[in-house]
Amino acid sequence: MLLVSMLKQGLHKQDLQKQGLQYLGFDIYENSINHIGIDGTVFMARENEKTIIIATNKSFGFHGYDKKDGVIRADLNHENACILRKLFPWTAPVRGLKNKKSFGLGDRLGFATPGHIDLFKKNDVFPFFAQQSMRELNLTKRTYEDVLDAVSFAVFREGYKIGFGADGDHLKTAEDIEYVLKLGFTMITLDCSDHIKNNKKDILLSQNYKDKYINQIFKIEDYTLTFSEEEIKECISIYDDALIFINDIYKRFFINDLYNADLELSIDETVSVTTPLHHFFVAKELSDLKISFATIAPRFCGEFQKGIDYIGDIEQFKKEIKIHAAIARFFGYKLSVHSGSDKFSIFPFIGNETKGNFHIKTAGTNWLEAVKIAAEEAPSLYREIHLFALKVFDEAKKYYHVTADLSKIPNISDMNDNELPLLFNNNDVRQLIHITYGKILCNINADGSFVFKDKLFKILAKNEEKYRNALVKHIGKHLELLEVYQ
Ligand code: ZN
Repeated sequence: MLLVSMLKQGLHKQDLQKQGLQYLGFDIYENSINHIGIDGTVFMARENEKTIIIATNKSFGFHGYDKKDGVIRADLNHENACILRKLFPWTAPVRGLKNKKSFGLGDRLGFATPGHIDLFKKNDVFPFFAQQSMRELNLTKRTYEDVLDAVSFAVFREGYKIGFGADGDHLKTAEDIEYVLKLGFTMITLDCSDHIKNNKKDILLSQNYKDKYINQIFKIEDYTLTFSEEEIKECISIYDDALIFINDIYKRFFINDLYNADLELSIDETVSVTTPLHHFFVAKELSDLKISFATIAPRFCGEFQKGIDYIGDIEQFKKEIKIHAAIARFFGYKLSVHSGSDKFSIFPFIGNETKGNFHIKTAGTNWLEAVKIAAEEAPSLYREIHLFALKVFDEAKKYYHVTADLSKIPNISDMNDNELPLLFNNNDVRQLIHITYGKILCNINADGSFVFKDKLFKILAKNEEKYRNALVKHIGKHLELLEVYQ
């Protein structure tokens, strides 16, 4: 009972260890020590290489076991994550898109949040530590529960209490949206791509549309927008179905803040570039339908390929982001930039033209930083992953649009171990490793064990500090270029 009485006094790690807690086999995460009432303590610790929750009081409800020393040891599973979120509301996500600056951080491994915390606790950008699309979950065989729980445990362990969001990214069906909202996600990214038509058909323009758009001049800040009959027909034929879909989803889940979550509209994953006129049309129609939403993700001009810088005409992008940003301000929402990993050449324009009002999403770059740690710390493991990725690349390309040219990737058998990390400066390698993540993580041996996943996790656990620092530096570069430190 010695341990319980010490904990009940609210002592800190050093005192606890001095007084023999080490003897009980715990290595405590000091920032996780939290007290409930006058005699309850909950914290995280490592015991025999395993991270667990320790609670001094059975009545907190954690599912675990008691080694007859008066404390409950609870595994990091979904049941316990739910209890943690109830006991400590700051481990549950909150809404965040109303903040001027927000940033999404997809973490496909459930390992990156501590590094993200190190960075985001020091700035005024609201982070979405949980952000995952159905596609990513299918490819990694994870669930939305896994994604959210990993973040809740990480913020508890680190004592990060200032709020984070959770984004059910690129959802296409009411069923998925309902599921994710009931789990407590605070943002839904509605993927409208299945309802956006790319082949223009000749339609009859209704009187309503004629009156609304033809011979009208729309003043948006310094811009005047006008529609020809051809242009308005094009807008209607591309977006008409999507507007009906958005209206339906809005009424079911978002009207009157039914689920206390924000709505983002994604019209980006389609071949139709969202021109400023398209954007204005969609925004005006939604505003006339009285649909309110927090962010919109247009398909900007140029290419936003995964894990590499912007490809395209930067001058044109600069011109168009200015108008897109003005339209968003006019209607009262923010622009959202998807596939934002590593788009360094355009971040300054996004930051400036939106006047620091943006949502940016990244995911793959967090994964690339993790594999880079393997290249640095476990070269032979990296070599195996690399050769495997080359083998499965063509299949992985079904899910992602990339232009990587495998013939430009150096033969790694000619490279020394210390040269391997340099591969991550090569865009073709970045894309190779980026899009094959699902195959790499799910590759199993004949006995059902993972070929790479467990080894990769071990390397990351062993080099946790290094991974954290790499993320702080790399994601930090994104934020700096967005001029958030102005
Ligand atoms: Zn997207």
